[in-house]
This record gives sequence, C-alpha cells and structure tokens, in this order.
Amino acid sequence: MKHNIFWFRRDLRLEDNAGLYHALRSNHPVQCIFIFDKNILSKLPEDDARVSYIHQELTRLSKELKEYGASLQCYYGNPKTCWKAICEDFEIEEVFTNRDYEPYAKKRDQDIEKYLLKQKIHLRKYKDHIIFESDEVTKDDGLPYTVFTPYKKKWMKKMESRMMGKDSYFLSAYPSLKYSSNFHKRKKSKIISLAEMGFKQSDLEIPSKEVKRSLIKKYTEQRNFPAINGTSKLGIHFRFGTISIREKARHALALNETYLSELVWRDFYSQILDKFPHVVEGPFREKYKNIEWRTDENDFKAWQEGKTGYPMVDAGMRELNATGFMHNRVRMVVASFLTKHLLLPWSWGEAYFAEKLLDFDLASNNGGWQWASGTGTDAAPYFRIFNPASQLAKFDKNLKYIKKWVPEYGTEDYVEPIVDHKFARERCLATYKEGLAKV
Ligand SMILES: Cc1cc2nc3c(=O)[nH]c(=O)nc-3n(C[C@H](O)[C@H](O)[C@H](O)COP(=O)(O)OP(=O)(O)OC[C@H]3O[C@@H](n4cnc5c(N)ncnc54)[C@H](O)[C@@H]3O)c2cc1C
Repeated sequence: MKHNIFWFRRDLRLEDNAGLYHALRSNHPVQCIFIFDKNILSKLPEDDARVSYIHQELTRLSKELKEYGASLQCYYGNPKTCWKAICEDFEIEEVFTNRDYEPYAKKRDQDIEKYLLKQKIHLRKYKDHIIFESDEVTKDDGLPYTVFTPYKKKWMKKMESRMMGKDSYFLSAYPSLKYSSNFHKRKKSKIISLAEMGFKQSDLEIPSKEVKRSLIKKYTEQRNFPAINGTSKLGIHFRFGTISIREKARHALALNETYLSELVWRDFYSQILDKFPHVVEGPFREKYKNIEWRTDENDFKAWQEGKTGYPMVDAGMRELNATGFMHNRVRMVVASFLTKHLLLPWSWGEAYFAEKLLDFDLASNNGGWQWASGTGTDAAPYFRIFNPASQLAKFDKNLKYIKKWVPEYGTEDYVEPIVDHKFARERCLATYKEGLAKV
C-alpha cells in the first residue's frame, strides 16, 4: 500500500499544522517522520538543552499519535542517507512538509527534492512558521523591504485586507486532527535515545507554552523592564513550532498591537535572511566590512562570564549562562557593549548567543546582532552608543534585576569596569569612522 509521509521539522505539533493538515486530507495514509540531522547535531555540546527539548517534544508527539493508532518514525544521520532509508521503509506516493527559510535548510530541501523526484515522489511544501513569506510583503516594485517601519505598515495593510476580504479565514487554525482517521495505522514508534546520539539530558527549565492574557494586555507598559515577568518567553516555542504562530497572532490582534509588532519583527528578519543570505557571512551593509574589530580574548571571556564591571551587562550574561534566556532590553545592552565598548566582532557575540539561547533562531539572532552593531538593516546609526549606566537607571532603577544576578554588586567583591565608558565611546566612534572611510 502506498503512503504519504509528513516530515516534521520546526513544527512539532499535531494541531493547526499546515503541512500535516494537507497531508491528512490527501488520498493516502500518512506516516509521520523526523530526522535528527547529524550535520547540525555534530556541532552542539553534549548537554545542549535544545536537543533535549526536541527529544522531549518528539516523545510527546509519539504519545499523541498513539492515541490515533499512529506512530512517529525517527531517523538519525545525514538527511540524504536517511531519505534513502525512508524510501526503503515505506512505499511513498508524496512527501509533505512545512517550509524552512534558513540557507542550510533551503539547500537541504532542494537536494532532497531532487532525490525524491528521481524516485518519482513529489515534495509538497507549505507555509506554517511565519505569517507572511518574503514574497508576500514587498515594496510596490516587488523588491524586499529593508527598513522595518514601512515593512510593518505594508504587513498590517496586507493582514487587514486578507482578514476582511474573501480570505477572512486567513489566520484560522488548520483543523489537522479533523482528518486524523487518515494517519497510517502502525503501532510502534521508533525514537532514538539521546545517549545513542551522544547527548545527555539538559537540566535547563523550558519556559511554559501558556501565557496569561493579562501579560499580553500589559505587555506595552512592562516589556522593557527585565525585573518584571513582562514578556511571553515564547521564543523557543515559536522556534520549534510547539505553538502555532497563527494562534498567537490572532491573540495579539485582539489584545495588544505592540505584541503583534514583535511578531512582525520575526517575519521581517525571516524575509531578510531569505532574500539577503549574505548576512550569515558578513554585514548586511557592505560599507561596514572594513571595520577593524579588536580580537582580545580576555575581554571576550569577561563578557561571556558576566565580569565586565558593568552590572547590566554582567546580569544579562549570567542570566543567559544560567537559564538560556535573556530579556530583550538586556540583549540590546550586552550586544551594544560587546560591539561598541569592546569593539569585538558582532559575529563572536552572535555565535555565543547561538550556542546558549533556548530560543536561538538564525534570522532573529543575526538581525539583532547586526542591528546592535550598526551593520544591519534599519540599524541605529553607529554613533548612537548605548550607555549601560543610563540603561540601568531607566530600566532597573531599583536594582532588582541586578541584585538577582550580580549579588556582589555594590560590594568590594565586584570587579572594576574592564573599560572606561568615555574612552570606549571615543575609540568606537574613531574606529567606525576609519572603517567607513576605507570604502
Ligand atoms: C542581540 C539580539 C539577539 C537576539 N536573538 C534572538 C534569537 O536568537 N531568537 C529570537 O527569537 N529572538 C532573538 N532576539 C529578539 C528578542 O530579543 C527575543 O525574541 C525576545 O527577547 C524573546 O523573548 P520573549 O519570547 O519573551 O519575547 P516577547 O517580547 O514576548 O515577544 C514575543 C515573540 O516575538 C518575537 N520577537 C520579539 N522581539 C523580536 C525581535 N526584536 N526580533 C525578532 N523577533 C522578535 C519572538 O519570537 C518572541 O518570542 C534577539 C535580539 C537581540 C537584540
């Protein structure tokens, strides 16, 4: 008997899953699969919390599938080799999946698509991870936006016209499970253990998927203060698709436009990565390529460990190291400090965040780092340099956040600043000016 395959990637849920919905509505029983990609896993530390989380969520999916008499088959290895095995394990009619916009994923999918076509198997891809893809929100001449505010205006206009026009179901959930009778009935799931892949369980706590409506309602007033539990901490769930972006966008539309704006940022950086993949290797704006970054390993280490003598920077880095999370306001402060005060390459900070953040997402992380260093789209001009002391006075004036993460602050045990603010500011301005003059 022929089967259709649904390939899970960054969409680890059964409900409201676009690709799965289309697979289940097809004419053949649907078998779900997941591939642990060795190319990605081989670069990660053995206690990587994201790997533990994916494994935990696959185990949950497998249990949920069992309720429908179905199963999840996991493969481990190079995706192309795994697909050879999948094609041997099942007689396949078509493969369904949701689109991924990262350069590595796009190349992988092209290769797999070619391989499947050779076997006369069609790969069907759907939009699930974002609200609008890069070709859906463009300038009037069809070119991509590179500045957020006009992008957001067009995004909102598009949303309103879709919701009010014939597409009023635009943000509605895909009722995947209405068609659950079309899952391939196969009892035994196959999920490789973490140990078999050389990983061990991480003990980092994963933020909840549930967010109180009151938090979203008060988001505008509270989101900038790291001592307040005022942001949703849903980043990791958006990253792995353990929640639906459509559901959260519906809530945001109803409850708070500022929160909706943050989801628009997510689409914005996704389209930047899709249309300008050179950002992965270097600055978005070419003219910043000649900046002479310092390469002082000791300063980098002090920054990583939260021992710079700037309390807001140190609190943020210690929070990141201990929990895998850092508040957005503090991300901006620590990123500005690394690139402007210490003049270390933004790519170093980007790589450190990529290793530590639970919600690490290539598009948003790269966008955030390039924004902070002044090399990106829509960036603050390079001569606008965050003053960590004023940021502290404004956003944690009672030192509640600082006291939590830097308990020795204010005592003689606290380190002296590793660089003087005024000196660092002038050095930064001179270096950027010099780099830009070389173009
Ligand atoms: C240097 C730097 C690095 C960053 N790296 C990442 C990253 O790797 N992954 C990531 O998801 N976000 C990143 N951000 C954006 C932002 O800091 C986080 O999305 C946010 O702090 C996550 O916390 P939250 O889920 O409580 O967000 P909330 O404030 O509750 O926002 C809800 C959601 O909106 C999205 N969002 C919010 N702000 C942004 C933004 N500026 N850009 C893109 N999406 C946004 C996220 O999906 C977030 O989960 C980075 C920002 C900076 C300055």
